[in-house]
Amino acid sequence: MKEAQIICVGCPLGCRATLKVSREGEVLEVTGCRCKEGRRYVVEEFRNPVRVLTATVLTEGSRVPLLPVRTSSPIPKEKLREAMKALAKVRAKPPLRAGEVVLEDLLGTGVDLVATRDLPS
Ligand code: SF4
Repeated sequence: MKEAQIICVGCPLGCRATLKVSREGEVLEVTGCRCKEGRRYVVEEFRNPVRVLTATVLTEGSRVPLLPVRTSSPIPKEKLREAMKALAKVRAKPPLRAGEVVLEDLLGTGVDLVATRDLPS
């Protein structure tokens, strides 16, 4: 058995959770969380950590040089570095409205990259 420490970010209390994990990776026990939602969060964070990626991409054909973007939903944390490399090659073309897709299916995750601001020409 091994232990993992995860800080819950569900609220400002920031509980420090300790997870007891079997050799097979099964979570056997969680201590240190003060609520069920936090317990669920730390178990999910242990099994499959995901993050919403926010960044900016270069534009092409717009007077605005950079467009802020984010993923439409969280992607696996392990893909963040690769995703940032992919974003370096993206050129957003106007016109775009906030919420519109800039790049579909980022790295085959099924998650789109969307504009978080309008992009005028
Ligand atoms: S476990 Fe619950 S109380 Fe603790 S930080 Fe997470 S959400 Fe907040």
